[in-house]
Parts: sequence; structure tokens; C-alpha cells
Amino acid sequence: MRCSRCERPAVVDQPYRGSHACASHFLESVDERIRREFHRQLPKFGRGTIAVALSGGKDSAVALRATQRYFARRPTVRVVALTVDEGIPGYRDATIAAAQRLTRELGVEHRVVRMAERLGTTTDRMAREHPDTIPCSYCGVWRRRLLNDAARDAGADALVLGFNLDDLAQTVLMNLVRGEVDRLARMAPHRTRRAGLVPRVAPLAEVPEREVYLYAYLLHLPFDHGECPHANRAARNIFREVLWQLEESIPGTRQSLLRTRERLLDRGMAEGADDGPGVCSRCGAPASGGLCRSCELLEVARQPVLLPVRP
Ligand code: SF4
Ligand SMILES: [Zn+2]
Ligand SMILES: [Zn+2]
Repeated sequence: MRCSRCERPAVVDQPYRGSHACASHFLESVDERIRREFHRQLPKFGRGTIAVALSGGKDSAVALRATQRYFARRPTVRVVALTVDEGIPGYRDATIAAAQRLTRELGVEHRVVRMAERLGTTTDRMAREHPDTIPCSYCGVWRRRLLNDAARDAGADALVLGFNLDDLAQTVLMNLVRGEVDRLARMAPHRTRRAGLVPRVAPLAEVPEREVYLYAYLLHLPFDHGECPHANRAARNIFREVLWQLEESIPGTRQSLLRTRERLLDRGMAEGADDGPGVCSRCGAPASGGLCRSCELLEVARQPVLLPVRP
């Protein structure tokens, strides 16, 4: 297979574009898509702080490098990387080590936020004590909260997330299937500012997952390949598989799902979406009732665990 733009051998096929690309045209096309997204999602941002959520995996490694490169010519923009340690031994330690290697190589300030210290519990502890609950349902909520708190502590004007095209298309599909149209507005990338929340930016929105991997590989970015031991229980796994099948039969499905969200937002169909009129009585985050979701889940975590009585 030859590159569609030169004579060099292709390293990737892109059926949704009807083309193949050699390594240098591939890297160029990814850079261009990321640049366009920054331009669209963060127009005229020339001064301030950008926080990047860095898990230590491939997506956030690419997002951090892209952010640093995009703002390299603007000394008035500071970049800081944030890593949440959810307390998942055997998995998170290796990803934190990879995140530290990358931030050292790039010369980026790096802060690690530990769930155990901030919230008084960890994902692993909760998984042990509440085995019937899917770990991602609280782990994801708490991580979002800790990232937001850390971004605010760092004085960030925006929070960059490493969500790729597959991640975002899965989220759109999940929300549509569940009829949760208002969540479409709440998901990243954010169009509007909401009190108490640092707006989230997703510069990899047009880059499929496997291209993010190839990009990180070709550039020798340090990242960890490990998978969270709780990932097999995540509800989105079914949507990942369905989307793969759809994409194989109908190339461009993922982009269409993202366009669907954009059109719904353009028409105001998912506007006004908010967590509610008020703020959480405990932490001040947006909330519909007395407590935000994160504080509600912390209540569950603090309940005494009833151990079975041995005969
Ligand atoms: S896969 Fe689920 S439990 Fe594991 S780190 Fe991600 S959100 Fe947390
Ligand atoms: Zn080429
Ligand atoms: Zn709260």
C-alpha cells in the first residue's frame, strides 16, 4: 500500500477518509486535526494557564505533547499536567511513573492528586467494600471532581482531556441510547462556561483511538500500556463493541455521531443542561438537589460496611 499523497509506503489506512498515509503525512494530518480543534475549542487563547489531565496512557500523553507544542510560541500561556491517583495498586503506579517520565522529558510542571488524601477513600477500597457497584460509576465521578479541583487550584482557564474520537463517539451513543440528551451538552468539549467548573477541551476529538496509539508510538512518547483491573466491568464496553461493528460497515459513523451532537447543540436541543439550579451544600459544585453526585457517592463510601456474620 502506498501513501495517497506521496510514493512512500503507507503505515495506516483511513477508510473514513478513503486514503492511506505514510508516517510523515500521517503525523502531519494528526497535527493538523489537533491544531484545528484547539483553534475551534479555545479561540484566541493567548494568556493564562492550561491544565492537562495526564493519566500516563497514550491518549493523555499525546494530548500533553500537543498542548505544549500548540502553545510553545506563547510564553504567556503556562501548561501544567495533572494526574489523579485513584488508589488502584498494580495499575496506577506504572501509569504515574510513565506520566512523570513524559513531563520530565517535556519540561512540564506536574502535580499528582491522591484520592486517598483528598477524599479519604480509594477506588480499590470502594470496590472491595461495595462489590455490587460498578467501580467506574464512582471512580469516574470522583476523578472528574479531583481534576476540576486541581485545575482550579492551579488557576487553570481550561482543562485539556485526552478523549479521542472513539471515546467521544461512544459517549454520544451512550447518551442517545439512554435518552439523556442534556448530558450531551455537559460532556466535553464544553461550549459554555459553568460556575465552578473549569471548561474542558478535547483536542483529539477528530483522531481515532488507533491513530492516537500510532502517533504516540511513532514519536516514542513514554506511556503505559496497562489496563485498569476494573475496566472489564465498565458499562461503555458494549458501546465500544457496537461502534467498532458500525464503523467497519459504515466508515465515518464516529464522526457522524459527533456531528449529531453539534447539530443538537446548534439547535438548542440540549441547551440549558445543567446539574441543577443550585450548588452542592457540601462542596459548592453545581447540583440539582442538596448534594452533588460526588458527595452523594462519598456518603455511600462512608457508610459502615456490614460484613457477613460467620457461623
Ligand atoms: S476503568 Fe473505571 S475503575 Fe478503572 S480507572 Fe477508569 S474509571 Fe476508574
Ligand atoms: Zn506520504
Ligand atoms: Zn459536592
